[in-house]
Amino acid sequence: MYFIPYPNENDLKIFEDCARAKGIVTPQEIAQMKCFLANKFNDFHNEMANGNVINIPRSNPSGNFDQNYMEKLYTEQFVGAQGICRDIYERILASPIFLKCPMCAESTVTELDHHLPKNSYYEFSVYTKNLVPICSRCNKKKRHTMPNMVNKQFIHPYYDDFSKCTWIEMVFLNMDPIEISFQCIEDDKISKVILAKLKSHFSRLKLNELYTSHALVKLHDMKNSFHEMIKPKDWDGVASEIGIYLKGVSHRPDSWEFALYTKLLKERWYIEGGFDKFDPQVKPRKI
Ligand SMILES: [Zn+2]
Repeated sequence: MYFIPYPNENDLKIFEDCARAKGIVTPQEIAQMKCFLANKFNDFHNEMANGNVINIPRSNPSGNFDQNYMEKLYTEQFVGAQGICRDIYERILASPIFLKCPMCAESTVTELDHHLPKNSYYEFSVYTKNLVPICSRCNKKKRHTMPNMVNKQFIHPYYDDFSKCTWIEMVFLNMDPIEISFQCIEDDKISKVILAKLKSHFSRLKLNELYTSHALVKLHDMKNSFHEMIKPKDWDGVASEIGIYLKGVSHRPDSWEFALYTKLLKERWYIEGGFDKFDPQVKPRKI
């Protein structure tokens, strides 16, 4: 997954600009709400930075600033083409490296997601640290999941950096024909709370399904490219090529490619001709 530095924006000014552009409320009400939000934003940042998303309470209506009003600030002033904060929306959308979704590290970002869903945490509707660039696939899977339990949480790309650890592994479900799957590593060194978050992120976004389909394409390519090594039994040549692939992705130890090549290098049967047992007609198993 990709870690992104959080947006460095003046969030209280953003709220004020949006509220003034929308109208309905008075300048005094906006000033009062800004004081209230200053504390809320501060709490959000501190709890997220300490991995305590569970401690962040759901929103309660505050005068005119109810769910409907706050959600509209976002849809009208951020998403709307003529919105006063449309430039900030575009800036956050363009922030990930290679424009890749930080939640899956595979698809291209297409939209912003409210990390804490805006229907329940509407105080953070236009708070930029709650707005994460994401792909439509991940956004659809995440939907309105409430992060009020440890097994319903997701990696927050501005606060949780697991991009330099290996927490995904590939396993063989079958050797002939080859069938594979990806899963979270059960590591004693990872705390139970963090492991629950990683597992929830992995399973709720159905990353196994996504990564398996990409890895099957790669296994098919490798079957083709290793074919000429069968007759001379050039198994060192096969291992050496996989080693080169692994070296290329070593800066991404949490990627499916890293998990795939690491596993293949450990499996002597695969290197010694097992790669030929790949059958592109075999569909990925639903797990
Ligand atoms: Zn994604």
